Amino acid sequence: MPELPDLEVMREGLDRRLVGREILAANAYSPSILKTASIPLEELVGERFAAVSRRGKHLILTCRDDLHVVVHLMLAGRLVIARGATEPTKATAFGLAFDDGSELRIVENGGIKLAKVYLVGDPIDVPAIASLGVEPLSEMFTVAYLKERLVGLRRQLKGLITDQRVIAGIGTAYADEILFEARLSPIRYASALTDEEIERLHRAIMEVLRRGIEEIRSRSDGVLLAEGSRDFMRVYKRTGQPCPVCGGRIAEIRYAQKRTYYCPNCQSKGRAIPDRRSWMKR
Ligand SMILES: [Zn+2]
Repeated sequence: MPELPDLEVMREGLDRRLVGREILAANAYSPSILKTASIPLEELVGERFAAVSRRGKHLILTCRDDLHVVVHLMLAGRLVIARGATEPTKATAFGLAFDDGSELRIVENGGIKLAKVYLVGDPIDVPAIASLGVEPLSEMFTVAYLKERLVGLRRQLKGLITDQRVIAGIGTAYADEILFEARLSPIRYASALTDEEIERLHRAIMEVLRRGIEEIRSRSDGVLLAEGSRDFMRVYKRTGQPCPVCGGRIAEIRYAQKRTYYCPNCQSKGRAIPDRRSWMKR
């Protein structure tokens, strides 16, 4: 699933490609992708995008103050800019055609369709946006904010920092990288953190996300609209490989469909985390 750095680079690409283009047609090829009914899709025809922004894992394409297209790609959605008269395929769920002959499409392969599109007068009308926590690269994300959200919580760090209501935009891959950077175990309870550890976590969140944006931007051709390559990550999907800090082996634990990668030496006092079902209980 794309996370904050991927989406930020997609936002930049969309901003360059779409702003100023007139929308000639809007199609929900897969009608269930459209989660709102109050504003008809035809309302977009003749409009131009004025700005592309991001909130958490949502991309917000703004035509005017009271008209926004909000996109959440979920697990398998991809944004594609189709050129010329390419026919939409079965996997094409949504399309916006522009005056230069291009069409921005949401393509979703595989069985379950999860991507979402909202047509709203205000992005806050999207329930998942209304409940979002702070943007970790904004001025609002301070050590004091983080401390206030963590203090006294019997919740484990991995679950907590991927909770969109606490911090917006972090998913399982960047969470692993952040906890590695902060030298904190993914199963530590928030309530057990010292002030110094909270500061370390705060710094790691910002550093890892900023680095991620730079890495993905440097791998993109300026029009990247897909999830970026993650070859720069230090623990994510690196089970058995040497830790870049201590040289020990990166380990993984599983819970349901999610895997967590970590360095036992750097993050867990040299001990492997028991791989039991309860480890990620919130
Ligand atoms: Zn290590």
